[in-house]
Amino acid sequence: MTWQDDYAANLFVFGTPLRLLVRGEGPWVWDEAGNRYLDLLGGIAVNVLGHAHPAVVAAVTRQAATLGHISNFFTSPPQLELARRLLELADAPSGARVFLVNSGTEANEAAIKMVLRHRPRGRIIALEDSFHGRTLGSLSLTAKAAYREPFEPLPGNVTFVPPGDVAALEAALGDDVAAVFIEIIQGEAGVKALDHDYVRAVRELTRAHGALLVVDEVQTGAGRTGRWLAHTATGITPDVVTMAKGLGGGFPIGAVIAYGPAADLLTPGQHGTTFGGNPVAAAAALAVIDEVLPMLDDVAALGEWWREELAKVPGVVAVRGLGLLIGIELDRPSAPVQLQLLEAGFITNNVNATTLRLAPPFIVTRDQAKSFNQALAGILAGQHGEIPHEQ
Ligand SMILES: *Cc1c(COP(=O)(O)O)cnc(C)c1O
Repeated sequence: MTWQDDYAANLFVFGTPLRLLVRGEGPWVWDEAGNRYLDLLGGIAVNVLGHAHPAVVAAVTRQAATLGHISNFFTSPPQLELARRLLELADAPSGARVFLVNSGTEANEAAIKMVLRHRPRGRIIALEDSFHGRTLGSLSLTAKAAYREPFEPLPGNVTFVPPGDVAALEAALGDDVAAVFIEIIQGEAGVKALDHDYVRAVRELTRAHGALLVVDEVQTGAGRTGRWLAHTATGITPDVVTMAKGLGGGFPIGAVIAYGPAADLLTPGQHGTTFGGNPVAAAAALAVIDEVLPMLDDVAALGEWWREELAKVPGVVAVRGLGLLIGIELDRPSAPVQLQLLEAGFITNNVNATTLRLAPPFIVTRDQAKSFNQALAGILAGQHGEIPHEQ
C-alpha cells in the first residue's frame, strides 16, 4: 500500500497530501524518499523559527518533563509569564487581559462571545475576502462562499462590507453593531493589506457607534510583518486582538488579548477550554517570543529586499505583503507553478488562482531566497525547474 492509499483509507477532510514529510531542520524538510525542500510556507505562517529550533525543542522538552498539563482550575508559571509578556508586547493599557486557546479559530470564537456580551444579540460586521476560521462562529465571519454555503444558515447576524470602503462601513454601522472584525493583511485572500487610513477610520467609526474593534492577527502576528503585531504600524488601539499560527512556533496555541473594558466582558463560567493555556504550549510561545523579538528588523528588511527582487522576475505582475508575508501575483494560474516549485524543492502555496504565498521561517537567508527567485524565474520562463535535490 502506498502512503497515499494509507492516508485516503484512514484520514479525511483534506485532499491527498502533496508529500509524506518525515523530518525538518531549520528552513528545510525532507520527504520519505529523502528529497529535501526549502520550506517557504512554514506550515502556513506557523514555523517562525523553522523546524526543530533548539530553543523551542529545549523549552518544550523541559516543560513536558516538569509539568505537562493541568486543568484551568490551576495555573502554572509559563502561563502567567506568557500572559504578562503578551500584554507587554501588545503595549496594552492597564486592565488588559489575555485568554489562552489552542488555535486561530478558537481565538476568534472567544472574541465573538466577548462582543456578544458587549451588545447582546448584536450584529457583527466583517470584510469581504476575510478569513477568520472554520468553526461555526468564526466561519460566520469568513466571506468565502465555498466554505460557508454547505453549512448555512450560520449562527450570528453578520454583514459583509468591501475592504477599504469607509462609506460602505459607515452605512453598515448602527447602534445594533457589536463589533467589526478585520485582518490588517488579508492573508487567505491573497495577501492584501488594508491601508492604514482605512484601519484608522474603522477605529474611529467603531468608537463613535459604541462597537468593538477586533483585529485578527492570527496570520500577521508573532513578528510576521516585522513588528510583533501588525496593527501597531497604524497607531490604533483595538479592543480585542486574536493570535495563533506563529505564536507557538509549531506548537498549537492561540491567544485573545482584550484591551481595557473588553477584558471584563467574559466572566468566569461563560467560556472555557481544557487545553488552553497548557504549560507546554505556553513554554513554546515564551521561547518564540525570546527568539523572535531580536529578529524583527531582519524580518522587515529581508521581506522588503525580497519583494523588490521578486518584482523583477518576468511573469510576476505584482508583489504584495509586508515582512515575511509575501503574495506573488503571476500573469498565469499559480497552481501549476506551485507544483513545479515543489518538484524543484521549494514549498509555497497557491493562495488564490493567480497568487503564490510565501510565509517562510524568519531564519531563511538571502541566499536561500535568491535560490527560490532563480527557480521561480526558470519555471516562469518555461523551463521546468529541474534543480537537483540535495539529499
Ligand atoms: C489561519 C487563520 C485563522 C484560523 O486559524 P486556525 O488555527 O486554522 O483555526 C483565522 N484567522 C486568520 C487571519 C488566519 O489566517
